[in-house]
Amino acid sequence: MTKRFADLHLHSTLSDSTFTPEEVIERARKAGLSAVAITDHDCVDAIEPALKIAKLYSIELIPAVELSSENKEDEVHILGYFIDWRDKWLLDKLDKMRICRIERVKKIVEKLKNHDIDINIDEIFALSGCGSVGRLHIAQIMLKRGFVPDIKEAFRKYIGNNAPCYVSKFKLSPAEAIKIVHRAGGIAILAHPVVLKGESVLCSVINDGINGIEVYHPDHSHADTIYFLKFAASHKLLVTGGSDCHGFGKERVLIGSVKIPYELVDRLKDAVKRRY
Ligand code: AMP
Ligand code: ZN
Ligand code: FE
Ligand code: FE
Repeated sequence: MTKRFADLHLHSTLSDSTFTPEEVIERARKAGLSAVAITDHDCVDAIEPALKIAKLYSIELIPAVELSSENKEDEVHILGYFIDWRDKWLLDKLDKMRICRIERVKKIVEKLKNHDIDINIDEIFALSGCGSVGRLHIAQIMLKRGFVPDIKEAFRKYIGNNAPCYVSKFKLSPAEAIKIVHRAGGIAILAHPVVLKGESVLCSVINDGINGIEVYHPDHSHADTIYFLKFAASHKLLVTGGSDCHGFGKERVLIGSVKIPYELVDRLKDAVKRRY
């Protein structure tokens, strides 16, 4: 039997990728993927349009989301897989987050003015469309208008977590984000753990009931991957991975760069079954 592969971390235009849900699936087909998850930031609206084309190509689309949470020092992203993406309670929560994101972008744009960066807020909202608006959209407009030479500089100098124009999002703790995923019937996975400093966040999300960690990610070096694999094994955590592709929103189109064996999807499915 030919080996099957999955990419469980992809964004679409319903958050901050330049690829529409349909284009994500089209790219997945070209990359030879059997299963994918569109994990938009705080948004599940890509799932329905993506499902239609995924069925056409016989690609398995796992309903998913990437929730943004924060603890005192870190931004902690929680991936939710096999969630009930039509759940009214979940959709209400996500809608509130969407509104908070709009208010936050307005505040960031105001702060940027104090740094002589005057960008048109409508241009940002035109770019984000009806999905989750975020910092990558702001960075793209800053780049387009010549205020920065690249996206990295926009984050490093202005809107990154420790930069002067940073504004935090809604107050959602990692524990609350994990609860949201569980309440929506899903499996909660800690995204790209390398961005977190040290093991303390990892240990605290284990206490909060996290089910697994994203071991395979483009930001992880080979040594990181080995480290997180061992960490997952010793704490009996599920293992996932994905390319975190944002289309042309980041320097490189990443879909196809991380392919995980389909067996890891089977482990996720086993975990879903065990919960019911
Ligand atoms: P937001 O949800 O508005 O906080 O924005 C998160 C997005 O910004 C994600 O796609 C991140 O990958 C991206 N991001 C965060 N920090 C950086 C950075 N230093 N360089 C490039 N992208 C970043
Ligand atoms: Zn993103
Ligand atoms: Fe993330
Ligand atoms: Fe992501």
